[in-house]
Amino acid sequence: MHCTMDDLLALRAGEASVWARRHVEDCAVCRAELDGLYQRVAQLKALPALRPPRDRWSVVRDAARVVRVRRRRTWSAWSLAAAAALAGVLLVPRFGSRGTLHAELSQAKEQSATLEDQLQRYDVDAGC
Ligand SMILES: [Zn+2]
Repeated sequence: MHCTMDDLLALRAGEASVWARRHVEDCAVCRAELDGLYQRVAQLKALPALRPPRDRWSVVRDAARVVRVRRRRTWSAWSLAAAAALAGVLLVPRFGSRGTLHAELSQAKEQSATLEDQLQRYDVDAGC
């Protein structure tokens, strides 16, 4: 059995198990893998550091604004649908007992309060 990539990374960090350290001394395949790992790390470190240009902020801000508006439109559509459903619940005549109607009304009130709560939370999250 050869070293896993975790074993090789631990070897590189000086935290390998006794088995891995002994195995690498005896196994040419794993030693070659470890050498390759060292080389790849060195090549990665040699890459130039990329820094985003500072004038990208306006582009990022505009993109974020578009996403926010799109989300608000989705929410508006949902709240309209919810209001329509609520109106349906309230306006459809009920022939059941008064108890059932009362229960449905308080359920509708609860749903309305929850919806309002969520809309307010959404506005707070959106920073408006
Ligand atoms: Zn090996």
